[in-house]
Amino acid sequence: MKGKNWEKNAKYIFIFGGVMSGIGKGVAASSIAKIIQARGLSVTAIKIDPYVNVDAGTMNPTEHGEVFVLASGLETDQDMGNYERFLNTTLPPTNYMTTGSVYRHVIQKERDLDYGGKCVQVIPHVTGEVIETIENAASVNEAEVVIIEVGGTTGDYENDMFTEAARQMKMCHPNNVLFVMISYVPYPNKIGEMKTKPTQQAVRSLNSAGVQPDIIIARSEQDIDKKRKEKIALFCNVSEKEVISAPDVSSIYEVPLNFEKDDLSSIILKKLSLQIKQTNLKKWKKFVNKVSDAKIPIKIGIVGKYFGTGDCIFSDSYISVIEAIKHASYSQDRVPDIQWINSEAYEKDPQKLCELEGFNGIIVPGGFGERGVEGKIAAIQYAREHKIPYLGLCYGMQLMVIEFARNVAGLKDVHTTEIKPQTKCPVIDLMIEQKKNMQEHHYGATMRLGNYPCKIKKGTKAFEAYKKMNIKERHRHRYEVNPRYIKQLEKAGLIFSGTSPNKQLMEIAELPQSMHPFMLGSQFHPEFTSTPLRPGPLFFQFIKAAKNV
Ligand code: GLN
Repeated sequence: MKGKNWEKNAKYIFIFGGVMSGIGKGVAASSIAKIIQARGLSVTAIKIDPYVNVDAGTMNPTEHGEVFVLASGLETDQDMGNYERFLNTTLPPTNYMTTGSVYRHVIQKERDLDYGGKCVQVIPHVTGEVIETIENAASVNEAEVVIIEVGGTTGDYENDMFTEAARQMKMCHPNNVLFVMISYVPYPNKIGEMKTKPTQQAVRSLNSAGVQPDIIIARSEQDIDKKRKEKIALFCNVSEKEVISAPDVSSIYEVPLNFEKDDLSSIILKKLSLQIKQTNLKKWKKFVNKVSDAKIPIKIGIVGKYFGTGDCIFSDSYISVIEAIKHASYSQDRVPDIQWINSEAYEKDPQKLCELEGFNGIIVPGGFGERGVEGKIAAIQYAREHKIPYLGLCYGMQLMVIEFARNVAGLKDVHTTEIKPQTKCPVIDLMIEQKKNMQEHHYGATMRLGNYPCKIKKGTKAFEAYKKMNIKERHRHRYEVNPRYIKQLEKAGLIFSGTSPNKQLMEIAELPQSMHPFMLGSQFHPEFTSTPLRPGPLFFQFIKAAKNV
């Protein structure tokens, strides 16, 4: 069997979801990773996305949530962001797979005759590919413990092959593999008691695939009481202490601390025959205390278009932005009051822009396409004219440059060719290397993606934030500031405080202090690298400025 050596180094913890999605499986997986890391072990986390998409880049964020970009440029599920934020680390592309990426490899190998003329089958070849990918991630990350989150919910057809791979791994190496189920325990108002039946059913469904959870994490509105723990234990084949209570909490960063109340890391380490070292969650606790101690609100408006799914506001589309605001705010003793502002409303009724007066800071995040663009530009103009701190992220930077070109530099017919290809003044234009991709309709994984270096000018706000000249941040774009207009824009006062090392590509634009207290946009996405213990520098400076409003 290929990859037979996997058992040599690592222990593997599979996380399955029971009953329904959206109950915080990613946060639970990240929190398990965190408490094990806090025991002094080297931990990594893998996300399995059961979609046929080869990566998350082609998925609509309103349906699937944010597309999280790794340093390598791989476009992944938002849970990868949770892992990086909790583990305070950077994860390599080995740590993300989808049904599509697994099959793509298998089919390529088949074409290359790597299976030596065999009939290629789901078992053992596809499951073998899954196992190999997991093992490879263990060795690339030099991990002692690997957390593998299986997306979707137990019983979904589409995650069968991943569950089967997990079963095979456990069967071959029972002492190195652990199964955890995160299940939902509803507390229906009318009944007035927590119901464990859905969890029992979910475990039974997992059992029918040959997998018995070793630990059950019971997600509910409140703490699971002793009676419910006994019931889940009895019906789901675990001991009472292996049922962990996971009530709703006000901050996701409390979850690791909550798990430790039920001694989860010791239970896991014992089961995996790992040495139990002392826990060090000191810095983490300090941040969590800041979250609970902060009292002074800071009102931040995020002006975008992606908000509605039916009657719901789908904030998952911007999860890294939200978390980055939280990191920067709490670390400066402020409670962020984040408000969603639909830019289309400003197009229909410009009078509404006045509501922005009440904000400490405004963000226009990343985005694509025409809908709501003029509303965003109007909001940016309002922020500039009323001296409200502004942070533009990718599209938010491009639109800030357009607003400046139109209303300060006085250029006519200014636009981005993304919206108006025939515009006379394309201040934002498709990057040369992207033209071919667009003509040939190559959309998947073809943007300018991942880490690129940026050189920062001294004496600017960007330099104040990063405190160094050479940085790397993550990107996801096709358009850029058109080099033809740089001189004119600079003459009108705009500062390009960050550029690519060859000075060809504008990475950061800002207004001088004489024009505005804080108006800055970056072509990259600083939100992807912000963590509770290391807030993103641009977010930190933005909140610092917003505190003074
Ligand atoms: N649509 C813009 C571009 O492709 C901005 C992308 C983004 O905000 N991530 O360049």
